[in-house]
Amino acid sequence: PEPSRQAPLVPAAATIAGSDSGGGAGIQADLKTFQELGVFGASALTAVTAQNTLGVHGVHPIPPSMVTAQIDAVAEDIGPAAWKTGMLFSAEIIEAVADRASFYKWSRLVVDPVMIAKGGASLLQENAVQALRSLLLPLAQVVTPNIPEAEALTGMRIEAMADRKEAARRIHAWGVKYVVLKGGHGGNRAQSLDLLYDGRVFTEFAAPWIETRHTHGTGCTFAAALTAGLASGLPMDEGVLLAKRFIQAALTNPLNLGAGHGPTNHWG
Ligand code: PLP
Repeated sequence: PEPSRQAPLVPAAATIAGSDSGGGAGIQADLKTFQELGVFGASALTAVTAQNTLGVHGVHPIPPSMVTAQIDAVAEDIGPAAWKTGMLFSAEIIEAVADRASFYKWSRLVVDPVMIAKGGASLLQENAVQALRSLLLPLAQVVTPNIPEAEALTGMRIEAMADRKEAARRIHAWGVKYVVLKGGHGGNRAQSLDLLYDGRVFTEFAAPWIETRHTHGTGCTFAAALTAGLASGLPMDEGVLLAKRFIQAALTNPLNLGAGHGPTNHWG
């Protein structure tokens, strides 16, 4: 008789995010990062952007009912071990995603609170920040703001390290279990310091600053690597370490693509 063939045990993760036609950020960054880390990637598109290494040239949102339909199709068949959200664009899409997150009771939900692209294009409507805070963060396991996103979420001005910790405390109080406050926008040209807060203690993740213009998609890629780590069963602190190492490797070994900000969704 034929030996029975078992399906390989590949962890799966899913991303709910916008498409970057240039392949550097958004859905493309997430799926490539999952693949690099040995995790099968599924996706639900929230918006299509016309984009390259020079910037965002157009944004076209997907109807919320179609976002829901994609999530249902993936959840009911593939059953990813972890989910990630990126560009959600509108309050209506956030409502649709929060509805599905609570329906399926996702325990590993990584929320990257994407707001503005490095070039200045808006990836989240202004009135949607409140929906993100009140509807989605209470359902998330972890949220990964950079400093400007933490400022927009809390309304605080963040300057000193004490401000970062206060912002993390405020964000944690909305119900998310872990906050990763990324320090790359902190103005320190010696090191980049990320903070992990679990509601009790702060853990610091420091790495040397890398000077490069090839930083497109760093936020997406960081959160995707963390999602892949969680889908593979890593605890939160090891997931953050994996994400930080992945970004460090990408920044150290830029790909020579495009005339602008090159992508960071690769190991090096
Ligand atoms: N495009 C999409 C679809 C994104 O989700 C993001 C980031 O989250 C960006 C663009 C912005 O990328 P960056 O600001 O790193 O250039």
